[in-house]
Amino acid sequence: MKKQRVWRIFLINLSLIVVIFLTGILLGFIFRTNQIIHNQIVVTARSHFQNIVLARRWNAQYGGVFVEKAAGIESNPYLENPDIYTVDGKVYTMKNPALMTREISIFAEEAQDFRYHITSLRPLNPDNFANAFETAALISFEKGAKESFETMEKNGRTVFQYMAPLFVEASCLKCHAKQGYKKGEVRGGISVELDVTDIYSQIRANTLIASGLTAAISLSLLSMIWILVSRLARRLTKAYETIEVMSITDELTRLHNRRHFETRLAEEISRSLRYGSPMSLMILDIDHFKRVNDNYGHQAGDWVLTQFATLLKDNVRKADVPARWGGEEFVVILTESTISQARMAAEKVRRNVESAEFNIPDGRSIPVTVSVGVASLDMISGDEMGSEADVLVKTADDALYRAKQEGRNRTVAVSSK
Ligand code: GH3
Ligand code: MG
Ligand code: MG
Repeated sequence: MKKQRVWRIFLINLSLIVVIFLTGILLGFIFRTNQIIHNQIVVTARSHFQNIVLARRWNAQYGGVFVEKAAGIESNPYLENPDIYTVDGKVYTMKNPALMTREISIFAEEAQDFRYHITSLRPLNPDNFANAFETAALISFEKGAKESFETMEKNGRTVFQYMAPLFVEASCLKCHAKQGYKKGEVRGGISVELDVTDIYSQIRANTLIASGLTAAISLSLLSMIWILVSRLARRLTKAYETIEVMSITDELTRLHNRRHFETRLAEEISRSLRYGSPMSLMILDIDHFKRVNDNYGHQAGDWVLTQFATLLKDNVRKADVPARWGGEEFVVILTESTISQARMAAEKVRRNVESAEFNIPDGRSIPVTVSVGVASLDMISGDEMGSEADVLVKTADDALYRAKQEGRNRTVAVSSK
């Protein structure tokens, strides 16, 4: 359960990282694309502005150009003498840069998706007033700004407005010197308005597609990660469990190993001390085991150890903890057992070992006996306790030594201290 939680947290974190990473890429991509398109719109507007400035310069260089005043062509009301009459009776009227700009603007508006507007903060033609954007731009030009632009919604369309100042050039002074114009000063500006509705709806579609793709990629990546990580987690959990079992199991006899025995012993001792319940320990050592190896071979010795372990396990209670101490020595923690109960348990094991048949594959039966030392926790005096476990083991081991001394195949229980 705990491990599952760890994996779940790991998966959630990993998923968050993937989502944040992919969203970051998406936002970066959208931001960059929008920036490139926006820059391109500015470049387009700027070049329209420069074109009209060039055309105006061409016109101003001639002090305005005359066109034949055909039917429908009005004279510029803001010029003092706009018309000239030729000897052959034709009339020509002047198209100065301002009028030319307005007329080209009308062409541009009719034919294309942009329009020019020449204006100033004090236009000669009162109908030619600056709109809010242009007014703000013109004010900024007086403070030294070089250009100004913004995108806005206008009549249900998205429009991009660009404006740059018009500087008074030498050619302008031919006509405008009397109005007090000075070379280099700003006298209004030209705004360029581009209809960017289509391009903006394409940007929106692009953003939607990229978001959809990112969501789809994130989802498939996440499901792949979840499947792979879950599979990995299952395998690791299994491996971990195997390692856990291996780390506490004796390889040959499949009993608990010494390390696990020591852990369990400490637990059982503290439980016993806490609840005041009896608890005993037996140590078993197979008699003359060296001879088994010598007479039947090491392999036969292993079989005897395995069978001995099975017999030991079968002859103690479920609550007891049998373990291999090392070599041909075994231990059993006898929970809830007094010294006399433990002695009886040890005797039972000893007798059953004596009477059991330890067979090896070639059919021979090996006689096996065991000596057992038994000690009980209530025998251990408080004073000598460094660690109760050490003293208990030492006491049982001493009893075992006595059992060996007294002739083997017997149980010695430490009766009292
Ligand atoms: P005693 O009655 O005094 O206990 O005599 P013993 O021969 O059993 O005593 P000793 O401790 O001298 O010998 C134990 C032998 O057990 C020595 C060692 O070769 C053998 N042994 C220890 N571990 C294993 C094992 O895993 N497999 C086999 N086959 N033999 C082992
Ligand atoms: Mg031994
Ligand atoms: Mg022995």
